[in-house]
This record gives sequence, structure tokens and C-alpha cells, in this order.
Amino acid sequence: MRPLLVALAFFALAPAPASIRAQDRNPPSCPRAEAEQPPSTAFTLTPGVAAGPIPPLAPLSLLGGAESQPAGTDPPPADYRHRLRPTPLGWARLPSWCLWVEPATLTGPSALWEGRWFRAVQAAVDTWSGILPITRVSEPERAQILVERRRPPLQATDGRWRASHGRALLRLRHVQREQLWRLEPEVRVLIGPGQSETALQATALHELGHAIGLWGHSDHGDDAMAATPGPRPTLSLSERDRRTVRWLYQQPTIFGRAEAVLSPAGSRQ
Ligand SMILES: [Zn+2]
Repeated sequence: MRPLLVALAFFALAPAPASIRAQDRNPPSCPRAEAEQPPSTAFTLTPGVAAGPIPPLAPLSLLGGAESQPAGTDPPPADYRHRLRPTPLGWARLPSWCLWVEPATLTGPSALWEGRWFRAVQAAVDTWSGILPITRVSEPERAQILVERRRPPLQATDGRWRASHGRALLRLRHVQREQLWRLEPEVRVLIGPGQSETALQATALHELGHAIGLWGHSDHGDDAMAATPGPRPTLSLSERDRRTVRWLYQQPTIFGRAEAVLSPAGSRQ
């Protein structure tokens, strides 16, 4: 913990905290989940700094890591679509996303670093919103992407425990919204607060890239989805990032399609 944060912790008698939220209204395009069937499949994803080859894809896990570059790739490919992995049910993307960000308090001892975390996440969301339809909501029940302010738990990789600043966790679920059942990806994005604002933004940009469907890593350090980041934090999308997203969102998928209309009794028609 930084000394400044330790000092601020002495301000224990804080007033009731106000909070800042991503959005204080809930647009009709993001209806609340009314029911859910147990998830059929759970996935985990390794953090963004993974090194080494991707282990074989297990039936119930999706592991993003650095794959070995095919020999003789010069000039480099214009995108990194070949490094992405679909889920067993297809590409985990939606036509549009609803996103919830954990609110930050405006007052009290934690306001400084919570505000910093929130601003960094917002900046990363703004970047992805520039190329994809993302609606921010104030209720997590309306979201498919949930960004939480907490450090990811240690993760065992190649027999060693590794710490990371960010992680994206994907699960697939059948969810009912406005009486329509859909298959949706749900992604929890964990962003640890103990970083500079710039590093937070780079971490959030990378993990949100997984959340919108980029389940894999680039081998170029300048890309937001780089397996091994370059010397400077990546705060914007490269042309390769944009091309890869463009390709991904042209692929067919079953996610997000309405499956059935419910009768009043609740049975499927
Ligand atoms: Zn990653």
C-alpha cells in the first residue's frame, strides 16, 4: 500500500459516502434479468501477462495466453484473429453490451483511490465504446459485463501461483429478459485498485477487451490485447485491435438471440 493511502486511512470519521456511478438511469435496451437457468458451462481466463504456449483447450476452460508465432510471419499479420478462441458454444459476443461498473465513493478515506480507479475504468470503457455499442447501467442485474474493484485471487499457472492486477471471468448462461430467453456471456472483470491511474486504465482496457469477446492475446506489445505489454501502458486501441474486433463481430454467433416467448404460465411456446 502506498504511504499516502496509509495516511488517508486515519480519516476514519467519514460522512456517509456519496458515490459516483456509471449511469443513474437504466435504458430500455438493458432490461433486468428476470430468471436464469443454471450456467451450463464455466470458463476461466488467464491474466493478460501470460507467457508461454497455450495449454490444450479443455472442454470446460478457455485459456488465453501467448501462442507461438508461426514461422516466417513477415510482415506481421494485420490482426490477431488466429489467436482468439471461441467457446464451445461459439464466439462469445453480443450485438450490444450492457456494462455495470462498481460505484466509487466521493467522500471519506477511500475516495481518493476509488475515484482514481473509477476514472481509469471509465476511460477504458470510453475507448471500447468508440467502436462498439456499450450501454452503462446502474444495476448489475441489467449487465452482461460487471467491473469490480478488487484484486484477482492468485492463480495457478504452470505449477506456480501468480498474482495479477486484472482478470476477466466468463460464464455462459441462459437468461430471461422481458420474457425472452437468450444465451448470453456474462463477464466479471476484476481490476485491483493498487496501481497508478495510467496502469489501471491499461489493465482495464485489456480486460475489457476480453469481456467484449477477445478471448486470446496478441503477440504485439503495442496492442491492447498484448500477451506481454510493451514498455509503456497501452491506453488506446491499435489498428490491429480494431481489425480484430471488426472481424470478430462479423462472425456468426448464437449469443444474444431471443429463443422463445414465454406464455403467461411461464412455459415456453
Ligand atoms: Zn489477457
